[in-house]
Amino acid sequence: EPQPQPQRRVFKVIVIGDSDVGKTCLTYRFCSGQFQDKTEATIGVDFRERMVDVDGELIKLQLWDTAGQERFRKSMVPHYYRNYSSFQNLPAWIEECNKYCSSSGGIPRILVGNKSDLKEKSEVDTNTAQRYADSHCMPLFEASAKEDKDFANIEAIFLTLAHKLKCHK
Ligand code: GDP
Ligand code: MG
Repeated sequence: EPQPQPQRRVFKVIVIGDSDVGKTCLTYRFCSGQFQDKTEATIGVDFRERMVDVDGELIKLQLWDTAGQERFRKSMVPHYYRNYSSFQNLPAWIEECNKYCSSSGGIPRILVGNKSDLKEKSEVDTNTAQRYADSHCMPLFEASAKEDKDFANIEAIFLTLAHKLKCHK
């Protein structure tokens, strides 16, 4: 006789941030293991899923990949400037997050500095990012959707979040 399938819980994770920081690549990498070199600018939202084991419970992580800003803005702003401005725009993203996620205990959040493979060209140093993350009670992960050697960090981002969500009341 077929056994009834256990009801799996689904945790939703919303990935927000400026356009071009690698939100699509990061979620794609976590869910498929691949680096997708040619991404289309995300229109609206997309989601990708992966099952994860959180302390013995199999949970479906549903990653919602959002669109950062209009694509035309990208080409008009030089790369080096965008890089830093994606950090400077964090308060606006946090404000938006607080506006829509008004959970009393505070919704679990993680700050990701993607493209760690380009670290030597980055204008956002780790200490500055860490201070910002600390002041907003978020763990900071520097990761790369591109470099295989940094894949462990991508796993850590989403598994840490899954643990936090499991503990969240
Ligand atoms: P999104 O607009 O935030 O969704 O950004 P995408 O995921 O579309 O990525 C924007 C660009 O950055 C693409 O050209 C990607 O190939 C590139 N990219 C994404 N992640 C990385 C990374 O970790 N390292 C490097 N070097 N490039 C990346
Ligand atoms: Mg995208």
